[in-house]
Amino acid sequence: MTLKHTIKTRRFLNENHDSCTICGNEFKESETTHLGYLENGELAYLGDCCSSKLKETIIRHSFSKRPYTIADKDTILWRFMDFTKFISLISSNSLFFTRADKFEDPFEGAKGLKKNKNKWDKHYLEFIEQAHKNPPEGIDFKLTDKQIKIESKRVLAEMESGGIEDIKKTFINCWHENEFESEAMWKLYTNNMSEGIAIQTTYDRLYRSLNKNPSIDIGRVNYIDFNNSFAGVNDSFWYKRKSFEHEKEVRAIYFDFKKEYDFGKPIKVNINTLIQKIYVSPTAQNWFLEVVKETIGKYNLKKKIYQSNMKAEPFH
Ligand SMILES: [Zn+2]
Repeated sequence: MTLKHTIKTRRFLNENHDSCTICGNEFKESETTHLGYLENGELAYLGDCCSSKLKETIIRHSFSKRPYTIADKDTILWRFMDFTKFISLISSNSLFFTRADKFEDPFEGAKGLKKNKNKWDKHYLEFIEQAHKNPPEGIDFKLTDKQIKIESKRVLAEMESGGIEDIKKTFINCWHENEFESEAMWKLYTNNMSEGIAIQTTYDRLYRSLNKNPSIDIGRVNYIDFNNSFAGVNDSFWYKRKSFEHEKEVRAIYFDFKKEYDFGKPIKVNINTLIQKIYVSPTAQNWFLEVVKETIGKYNLKKKIYQSNMKAEPFH
Protein backbone atom coordinates (compact mmCIF):
# COMPACT_ATOMS: atom_id res chain seq x y z
CA MET A 1 0.00 0.00 0.00
CA THR A 2 1.30 3.43 -0.86
CA LEU A 3 0.63 6.05 1.77
CA LYS A 4 -0.90 9.28 0.55
CA HIS A 5 1.06 12.49 0.54
CA THR A 6 -1.78 14.72 1.74
CA ILE A 7 -1.97 18.41 2.53
CA LYS A 8 -1.20 17.53 6.15
CA THR A 9 1.95 15.59 5.34
CA ARG A 10 3.08 18.20 2.81
CA ARG A 11 2.58 20.92 5.40
CA PHE A 12 4.66 18.94 7.88
CA LEU A 13 7.42 18.51 5.34
CA ASN A 14 7.31 22.20 4.55
CA GLU A 15 7.56 23.25 8.18
CA ASN A 16 10.45 20.88 8.84
CA HIS A 17 12.27 21.35 5.59
CA ASP A 18 15.84 21.71 6.75
CA SER A 19 16.59 19.22 9.49
CA CYS A 20 15.85 15.80 10.91
CA THR A 21 12.84 15.98 13.24
CA ILE A 22 14.33 13.40 15.60
CA CYS A 23 17.95 14.36 16.07
CA GLY A 24 17.95 17.87 14.63
CA ASN A 25 20.79 17.17 12.17
CA GLU A 26 20.77 19.69 9.34
CA PHE A 27 20.36 17.99 5.98
CA LYS A 28 23.17 18.25 3.45
CA GLU A 29 22.67 18.98 -0.24
CA SER A 30 21.36 15.90 -2.12
CA GLU A 31 21.18 13.80 1.05
CA THR A 32 18.24 11.38 1.01
CA THR A 33 15.43 12.48 3.31
CA HIS A 34 12.49 10.36 4.43
CA LEU A 35 8.97 11.44 5.34
CA GLY A 36 6.77 8.94 7.11
CA TYR A 37 5.18 7.64 10.29
CA LEU A 38 6.90 6.43 13.42
CA GLU A 39 5.78 3.46 15.46
CA ASN A 40 3.61 5.73 17.65
CA GLY A 41 1.77 7.09 14.60
CA GLU A 42 3.48 10.49 14.62
CA LEU A 43 4.81 12.08 11.46
CA ALA A 44 8.56 12.43 11.09
CA TYR A 45 10.91 13.85 8.47
CA LEU A 46 14.28 12.21 8.80
CA GLY A 47 17.72 11.91 7.32
CA ASP A 48 19.53 8.61 6.87
CA CYS A 49 20.66 9.26 10.48
CA CYS A 50 17.26 8.25 11.87
CA SER A 51 15.32 6.77 8.95
CA SER A 52 15.43 3.28 10.46
CA LYS A 53 12.94 4.54 13.07
CA LEU A 54 10.22 4.98 10.44
CA LYS A 55 7.51 2.36 10.46
CA GLU A 56 6.00 3.53 7.16
CA THR A 57 7.50 5.78 4.53
CA ILE A 58 5.41 8.23 2.53
CA ILE A 59 8.04 9.76 0.32
CA ARG A 60 11.79 10.14 -0.07
CA HIS A 61 13.52 13.23 -1.38
CA SER A 62 16.95 14.25 -2.42
CA PHE A 63 17.44 17.28 -0.17
CA SER A 64 18.02 20.65 -1.69
CA LYS A 65 18.25 23.91 0.15
CA ARG A 66 15.51 26.46 -0.30
CA PRO A 67 16.40 29.36 -2.58
CA TYR A 68 15.14 31.79 0.06
CA THR A 69 15.49 32.34 3.78
CA ILE A 70 12.59 32.29 6.17
CA ALA A 71 12.06 35.13 8.62
CA ASP A 72 11.38 34.64 12.34
CA LYS A 73 7.72 34.16 13.22
CA ASP A 74 7.29 37.62 14.70
CA THR A 75 9.06 39.50 11.91
CA ILE A 76 6.92 42.50 11.02
CA LEU A 77 5.72 42.83 7.44
CA TRP A 78 3.95 45.75 5.79
CA ARG A 79 1.82 46.21 2.77
CA PHE A 80 1.09 49.75 1.64
CA MET A 81 -1.89 50.36 -0.60
CA ASP A 82 -4.58 52.72 -1.79
CA PHE A 83 -7.95 52.69 -0.08
CA THR A 84 -9.60 50.95 -3.04
CA LYS A 85 -7.14 48.05 -2.83
CA PHE A 86 -7.79 47.84 0.89
CA ILE A 87 -11.56 47.59 0.28
CA SER A 88 -10.93 44.90 -2.29
CA LEU A 89 -8.83 42.95 0.21
CA ILE A 90 -11.37 43.02 3.03
CA SER A 91 -14.47 42.59 0.89
CA SER A 92 -13.15 39.66 -1.10
CA ASN A 93 -11.23 38.06 1.77
CA SER A 94 -8.50 37.40 -0.75
CA LEU A 95 -4.94 38.38 -1.27
CA PHE A 96 -4.22 39.16 -4.88
CA PHE A 97 -1.24 37.26 -6.26
CA THR A 98 0.01 39.08 -9.35
CA ARG A 99 1.16 37.11 -12.37
CA ALA A 100 4.95 37.50 -12.48
CA ASP A 101 5.06 39.01 -15.96
CA LYS A 102 2.63 41.76 -14.89
CA PHE A 103 5.11 43.44 -12.55
CA GLU A 104 6.97 46.49 -13.76
CA ASP A 105 10.32 44.85 -13.14
CA PRO A 106 11.26 43.02 -16.38
CA PHE A 107 13.69 40.92 -14.34
CA GLU A 108 10.92 38.96 -12.60
CA GLY A 109 11.86 35.33 -13.17
CA ALA A 110 15.00 36.31 -15.07
CA LYS A 111 18.04 34.05 -14.94
CA GLY A 112 20.54 36.75 -15.71
CA LEU A 113 21.61 39.54 -18.03
CA LYS A 114 21.18 38.98 -21.73
CA LYS A 115 24.81 39.92 -22.35
CA ASN A 116 25.83 36.95 -20.16
CA LYS A 117 23.47 34.46 -21.76
CA ASN A 118 26.21 32.74 -23.77
CA LYS A 119 28.01 31.88 -20.51
CA TRP A 120 24.82 30.40 -19.07
CA ASP A 121 24.11 28.42 -22.25
CA LYS A 122 27.66 27.07 -22.41
CA HIS A 123 27.57 25.98 -18.77
CA TYR A 124 24.26 24.13 -19.10
CA LEU A 125 25.08 22.65 -22.47
CA GLU A 126 28.19 21.09 -20.98
CA PHE A 127 26.22 19.99 -17.94
CA ILE A 128 23.52 18.31 -20.04
CA GLU A 129 26.11 16.68 -22.32
CA GLN A 130 27.93 15.27 -19.30
CA ALA A 131 24.67 13.92 -17.93
CA HIS A 132 24.06 12.10 -21.20
CA LYS A 133 27.60 10.72 -21.30
CA ASN A 134 27.42 9.51 -17.70
CA PRO A 135 23.84 8.28 -17.25
CA PRO A 136 22.76 6.84 -13.91
CA GLU A 137 23.53 3.17 -13.40
CA GLY A 138 21.23 0.84 -15.28
CA ILE A 139 20.31 3.41 -17.95
CA ASP A 140 21.94 3.17 -21.35
CA PHE A 141 21.30 6.03 -23.78
CA LYS A 142 23.29 4.51 -26.68
CA LEU A 143 23.76 7.89 -28.36
CA THR A 144 26.67 8.91 -30.55
CA ASP A 145 28.60 12.07 -29.64
CA LYS A 146 26.85 13.89 -32.45
CA GLN A 147 23.43 12.77 -31.26
CA ILE A 148 24.30 13.83 -27.73
CA LYS A 149 25.17 17.32 -28.99
CA ILE A 150 21.87 17.63 -30.83
CA GLU A 151 19.89 16.25 -27.91
CA SER A 152 21.62 18.59 -25.45
CA LYS A 153 20.77 21.60 -27.57
CA ARG A 154 17.16 20.49 -27.65
CA VAL A 155 17.06 20.13 -23.86
CA LEU A 156 18.62 23.56 -23.40
CA ALA A 157 16.07 25.14 -25.76
CA GLU A 158 13.31 23.41 -23.82
CA MET A 159 14.71 24.78 -20.58
CA GLU A 160 14.63 28.26 -22.05
CA SER A 161 11.05 28.11 -23.33
CA GLY A 162 10.01 26.53 -20.02
CA GLY A 163 11.55 29.48 -18.20
CA ILE A 164 9.56 31.92 -20.30
CA GLU A 165 6.35 29.92 -19.77
CA ASP A 166 6.90 29.78 -15.99
CA ILE A 167 6.58 33.55 -15.73
CA LYS A 168 2.92 33.25 -16.71
CA LYS A 169 2.33 30.48 -14.21
CA THR A 170 3.93 32.14 -11.23
CA PHE A 171 1.87 34.34 -8.91
CA ILE A 172 3.41 36.64 -6.36
CA ASN A 173 2.20 38.65 -3.38
CA CYS A 174 4.75 41.11 -1.97
CA TRP A 175 5.43 42.46 1.51
CA HIS A 176 7.96 44.85 3.00
CA GLU A 177 9.97 43.68 5.99
CA ASN A 178 10.56 46.47 8.46
CA GLU A 179 10.29 46.97 12.17
CA PHE A 180 9.09 50.51 11.49
CA GLU A 181 7.00 52.31 8.93
CA SER A 182 8.75 53.46 5.85
CA GLU A 183 8.07 56.84 4.31
CA ALA A 184 9.52 55.64 1.01
CA MET A 185 7.02 52.79 0.90
CA TRP A 186 4.07 55.11 1.52
CA LYS A 187 5.18 57.12 -1.48
CA LEU A 188 6.06 54.16 -3.63
CA TYR A 189 2.96 52.05 -3.15
CA THR A 190 0.15 54.54 -2.88
CA ASN A 191 -1.08 56.60 -5.80
CA ASN A 192 -2.64 59.12 -3.51
CA MET A 193 -0.63 59.07 -0.33
CA SER A 194 -3.13 61.06 1.75
CA GLU A 195 -5.62 58.25 1.19
CA GLY A 196 -3.15 55.45 1.73
CA ILE A 197 -3.46 52.50 4.07
CA ALA A 198 -0.83 50.19 5.43
CA ILE A 199 -1.55 46.86 6.96
CA GLN A 200 0.88 45.33 9.33
CA THR A 201 1.20 41.61 9.76
CA THR A 202 3.88 39.16 10.81
CA TYR A 203 5.56 36.35 8.97
CA ASP A 204 3.60 33.80 10.99
CA ARG A 205 0.26 35.60 10.59
CA LEU A 206 0.73 35.68 6.83
CA TYR A 207 1.46 31.96 6.77
CA ARG A 208 -1.49 31.09 9.01
CA SER A 209 -3.88 33.42 7.20
CA LEU A 210 -3.17 31.55 3.97
CA ASN A 211 -4.29 28.39 5.75
CA LYS A 212 -0.68 27.14 6.01
CA ASN A 213 -0.99 26.20 2.38
CA PRO A 214 2.04 24.03 1.58
CA SER A 215 1.85 25.09 -2.07
CA ILE A 216 2.63 28.68 -1.16
CA ASP A 217 6.24 29.52 -0.42
CA ILE A 218 6.91 32.53 1.77
CA GLY A 219 10.43 33.87 2.02
CA ARG A 220 12.86 36.70 1.64
CA VAL A 221 13.96 37.93 -1.77
CA ASN A 222 17.72 37.80 -2.45
CA TYR A 223 19.27 40.85 -4.05
CA ILE A 224 22.17 40.10 -6.37
CA ASP A 225 24.39 41.81 -8.88
CA PHE A 226 23.35 40.22 -12.16
CA ASN A 227 26.56 41.50 -13.76
CA ASN A 228 28.46 38.66 -12.19
CA SER A 229 25.85 36.18 -11.06
CA PHE A 230 22.86 34.22 -12.25
CA ALA A 231 19.67 33.17 -10.52
CA GLY A 232 19.30 29.37 -10.36
CA VAL A 233 17.30 27.38 -12.89
CA ASN A 234 14.27 26.96 -10.62
CA ASP A 235 14.96 29.78 -8.20
CA SER A 236 14.74 32.86 -10.35
CA PHE A 237 11.64 34.28 -8.66
CA TRP A 238 13.63 34.61 -5.46
CA TYR A 239 16.27 36.90 -7.01
CA LYS A 240 16.10 40.56 -7.83
CA ARG A 241 18.61 43.20 -8.78
CA LYS A 242 20.55 45.02 -6.08
CA SER A 243 18.80 48.25 -7.03
CA PHE A 244 15.63 46.89 -5.39
CA GLU A 245 17.30 46.18 -2.07
CA HIS A 246 15.43 49.02 -0.31
CA GLU A 247 12.21 47.03 -0.81
CA LYS A 248 13.37 44.46 1.76
CA GLU A 249 10.84 42.18 0.21
CA VAL A 250 9.25 39.10 1.62
CA ARG A 251 7.08 37.42 -0.96
CA ALA A 252 4.57 34.65 -1.12
CA ILE A 253 4.77 32.62 -4.32
CA TYR A 254 2.26 30.24 -5.78
CA PHE A 255 2.84 28.25 -8.97
CA ASP A 256 -0.27 27.26 -10.89
CA PHE A 257 0.46 25.01 -13.82
CA LYS A 258 -3.13 23.96 -14.34
CA LYS A 259 -5.18 27.07 -14.86
CA GLU A 260 -4.53 30.31 -16.72
CA TYR A 261 -5.08 33.73 -15.19
CA ASP A 262 -4.88 36.98 -17.10
CA PHE A 263 -3.49 39.29 -14.50
CA GLY A 264 -3.26 37.36 -11.29
CA LYS A 265 -4.94 35.00 -8.93
CA PRO A 266 -6.91 35.94 -5.81
CA ILE A 267 -6.20 33.51 -2.98
CA LYS A 268 -8.52 33.21 0.01
CA VAL A 269 -7.11 34.59 3.20
CA ASN A 270 -8.32 34.91 6.77
CA ILE A 271 -8.36 38.71 7.11
CA ASN A 272 -8.62 38.71 10.89
CA THR A 273 -5.55 36.53 11.20
CA LEU A 274 -3.68 38.43 8.53
CA ILE A 275 -4.13 41.96 9.82
CA GLN A 276 -2.35 42.83 13.02
CA LYS A 277 -2.71 46.61 12.73
CA ILE A 278 -4.09 49.09 10.24
CA TYR A 279 -2.34 52.40 9.65
CA VAL A 280 -3.52 55.43 7.74
CA SER A 281 -0.93 57.54 5.98
CA PRO A 282 0.95 60.37 7.70
CA THR A 283 -0.72 62.90 5.40
CA ALA A 284 -4.25 61.58 5.95
CA GLN A 285 -6.89 64.01 7.23
CA ASN A 286 -9.18 63.13 10.11
CA TRP A 287 -12.17 62.55 7.83
CA PHE A 288 -10.22 59.78 6.10
CA LEU A 289 -9.50 58.08 9.39
CA GLU A 290 -13.25 58.15 10.13
CA VAL A 291 -14.07 56.65 6.73
CA VAL A 292 -11.65 53.80 7.32
CA LYS A 293 -13.10 53.16 10.79
CA GLU A 294 -16.62 53.04 9.43
CA THR A 295 -15.61 50.78 6.56
CA ILE A 296 -13.92 48.14 8.64
CA GLY A 297 -16.91 48.19 11.00
CA LYS A 298 -19.14 47.27 8.07
CA TYR A 299 -16.96 44.25 7.41
CA ASN A 300 -16.94 43.28 11.09
CA LEU A 301 -13.24 43.70 11.26
CA LYS A 302 -12.33 44.51 14.84
CA LYS A 303 -8.97 46.17 14.43
CA LYS A 304 -7.59 49.34 15.87
CA ILE A 305 -6.63 51.95 13.34
CA TYR A 306 -3.45 53.88 13.90
CA GLN A 307 -2.51 57.21 12.53
CA SER A 308 0.93 56.92 11.02
CA ASN A 309 3.68 57.27 13.63
CA MET A 310 5.35 59.70 11.31
CA LYS A 311 2.61 62.19 12.00
CA ALA A 312 3.83 62.71 15.56
CA GLU A 313 4.70 66.34 16.25
CA PRO A 314 8.24 67.39 16.97
CA PHE A 315 9.38 70.11 19.37
CA HIS A 316 12.36 72.31 18.75
ZN1 LIG B 1 18.36 12.23 12.55
